[in-house]
Amino acid sequence: MASLSLKNISKTYPNGFQAVKNFNLDIADKEFIIFVGPSGCGKSTTLRMIAGLEEITEGELWIGNNLVNDVEPKDRDIAMVFQNYALYPHMTVYDNMAFGLKLRKTPKEKIDQLVQEAAKILDIVPLLDRKPKALSGGQRQRVAMGRAIVRNPKVFLMDEPLSNLDAKLRVQMRIEISKIHQSLEATIIYVTHDQTEALTLGTRIVVMKDGVMQQVATPIDLYTKPCNMFVAGFIGSPQMNFIDCKVVKDGDDVKLEFGSHSIKLPEGKAEKIVEGGYIGKDVVLGIRPEDIKDEEIFVADGGDNVLDATVKVYEMLGAEVFLYFTVEGHDITVRVNPRTTARPGDTIKIALDTSKIHVFDKETEVTIT
Ligand code: ATP
Repeated sequence: MASLSLKNISKTYPNGFQAVKNFNLDIADKEFIIFVGPSGCGKSTTLRMIAGLEEITEGELWIGNNLVNDVEPKDRDIAMVFQNYALYPHMTVYDNMAFGLKLRKTPKEKIDQLVQEAAKILDIVPLLDRKPKALSGGQRQRVAMGRAIVRNPKVFLMDEPLSNLDAKLRVQMRIEISKIHQSLEATIIYVTHDQTEALTLGTRIVVMKDGVMQQVATPIDLYTKPCNMFVAGFIGSPQMNFIDCKVVKDGDDVKLEFGSHSIKLPEGKAEKIVEGGYIGKDVVLGIRPEDIKDEEIFVADGGDNVLDATVKVYEMLGAEVFLYFTVEGHDITVRVNPRTTARPGDTIKIALDTSKIHVFDKETEVTIT
């Protein structure tokens, strides 16, 4: 298996459009790296450059100790799994998986051993004699993966491999892919625009926007320490609440004011705001829906972290409830316990967990604390 290094990689298409700008990333052996971002952010272009399907305009791509910019795709020791599986309809599952090996003139017994092993890992042994049309979407997806596995590549590249599956199957296959990653101990680079897939699968996640890498971090760090408002808003569902505020100093306290409300910041966060010279300036307060509580224990003292809010919409999802409020013109979503008695029209007190507040520079949208 292999490590990869992308050094200052850029891609400009022949029409002059720069799809990837100065991309730097070191990927360790056996990592599961996710490229995530909205449509058009350059995820697939980056993946295709790694595969050798797209020329690298600038920069260096290393696989292990080899500079591979000019190495043919077939000689890069990489296997790619696409979203449309591209199985041959007239061939059985076995032949689909064996096809690439036959082209490489692998001995028949070796082919049989590799196909059987991969089929076992993917739990598709009983399907080996079937044609693709007699398979479900998820089974086809597994065969497509089997075709990559039998080649025993150093690196797997996957471009939205689950996007054609229905929601239930996507969850199943997500778990399958995690298992495959563990059993193959392979390096995987996986493109998705789905932040749930990114958070659940990745050992590290690369968030991209407009061809520029925004942040590289583990799922938990990305969720709890986003580097800017874009990452904060993109990762997490429902998304983080954003409230435009002004910073004021009130004695020793540092508060974020909006409308008639003011939220007192805890010491560590207040320090960063003061050090950054933000007193009197406009900032954006960010807080995730689960970091606002409606339970009495949190709102009992009616302190500087409590808002009076009227429920607009109540959404019951079984294990959790989302309450949607409008407070001083700001839409606020709160994730609460399903036992809540709050219903649309009720005005209740909600408390912000101030230790979980993020504060962003209003102009640059970069995280201050
Ligand atoms: P999606 O999630 O929609 O697949 P993506 O993040 O994978 O998006 P890319 O396919 O990498 O995005 O495309 C990045 C940008 O480059 C897009 O704006 C796209 O229109 C542009 N682009 C892609 N291929 C070409 C091309 N051959 N010529 C010019 N521009 C291109």
